[in-house]
Amino acid sequence: MTIQAPPAGGTAGGRALAAAVEQFEAAAAHLGLEPELREVLGGCHREYTVRFPAKLDDGTVRVFTGFRVQHNTSRGPAKGGLRFHPQTDIDDVRALAMWMTWKCALVEVPFGGAKGGVTCDPRALSPKELEAITRRFATELEPLVGPDSDIPAPDVGTNAQVMAWIMDTVSMHKGYSVPGVVTGKPLAIGGSAGRADATGQGVLYTIEDAARRLGFGLAGATVAIQGFGNVGEASARLLHEAGARVVAITDAGGGVYNEHGLDVAALALRFGEHGTVAGARGTVPIDNETLFGLEVDVLVLAALEGQVTAANAHHVRARILAEGANGPVDPSADAILVERGVTVIPDILCNAGGVTVSYFEWVQDLNRDHWSEQVVNEKLKEIMVKAFQEVLAVARREQCDMRTAAYLLAVKRVADAMEMRGLYP
Ligand code: NAD
Repeated sequence: MTIQAPPAGGTAGGRALAAAVEQFEAAAAHLGLEPELREVLGGCHREYTVRFPAKLDDGTVRVFTGFRVQHNTSRGPAKGGLRFHPQTDIDDVRALAMWMTWKCALVEVPFGGAKGGVTCDPRALSPKELEAITRRFATELEPLVGPDSDIPAPDVGTNAQVMAWIMDTVSMHKGYSVPGVVTGKPLAIGGSAGRADATGQGVLYTIEDAARRLGFGLAGATVAIQGFGNVGEASARLLHEAGARVVAITDAGGGVYNEHGLDVAALALRFGEHGTVAGARGTVPIDNETLFGLEVDVLVLAALEGQVTAANAHHVRARILAEGANGPVDPSADAILVERGVTVIPDILCNAGGVTVSYFEWVQDLNRDHWSEQVVNEKLKEIMVKAFQEVLAVARREQCDMRTAAYLLAVKRVADAMEMRGLYP
């Protein structure tokens, strides 16, 4: 038996988990995995839920709920981000942890998959409140985390500052600095050059490869992007620098469109000041559904899960759909997109640049070393291009889409690791 995913129509987390399990089950069936292995890999290995109090600026105490889930650690220490979001729940974290396992295997970084988070709205918290919640959550996580056991990183609603607070909290308790306990840290305390842009950089590399395969270059190519955070902003900026014309961007506060191309740098400044790109001069408003239906060369989804479903996949007119986010396309939409001739670059490949440079950061921390941004980007490109080519080769051999191919490769690698290790005791 695998996890019984809740029926569609439940929580967003429930739908994400149902999607993750469905994707795994399809690959497991295709690979003919043993039923026992399917049962193990179809659910999460270790799940941790904490309720903890934190003091708010007005003196009141509120109880928060946090999670850390390790899906599988057969290939190495658990690795995955921490999400601070109102919709974060145990099912969401389970789905995201499962996706991390496959992603690490696909790019062959020696990590297992994990994810965590706190149910909260960081935009409604002051910096002091955010720090208090983070430090208390870090303390609660201490039985699990460490450079050899489980290494968190930023995700939606968290950033380098949050990682710095976690590193400091753990270090204070140990009595010495433990930089390798988290990745995505500021450079000053053991972060890696290139980590902030790493996910966007990987998105760019995979889009370049996919476009080349379809016979076009990025110079002059049109792009629409959902999400303007760590992944969306870096993707927009790097695609713009590569010569593409970014015509539309949406975020949680609205969206902007200009058929002649947006001023990405100005939008980043505006987002920094107002928390949204909406209302920028020289643009017209656009919503997500309209953005999904734009006739562009590349559509980048860099916000949340479950954005393109069977209900709206028929509207997608992009040639390439790049999954910068985790799980932005529901499995119900996959066949429709294939039928429409849309090349989907699956999340476990497209956004793997983040965990790859997190791995580089961890290696540098453990070795007390520092690599230049040029070295980081060269190594990242090598890994992303290799993974892309391997996925493509499987897709050709099996006559399947890139998501199916990526899952076949990744699940097989994890299954092989489990079989090699054998059953303990
Ligand atoms: P983030 O918090 O920095 O940014 C999220 C963005 O999504 C924000 O701009 C927000 O305004 C926007 N957004 C939220 N709801 C929206 C909506 N309904 N419509 C349009 N935009 C909306 O988060 P992030 O780190 O950029 O993560 C984005 C996605 O990428 C997530 O799925 C995350 O798991 C995935 N991811 C992140 C990394 C990383 O290194 N940060 C790595 C791999 C995958």
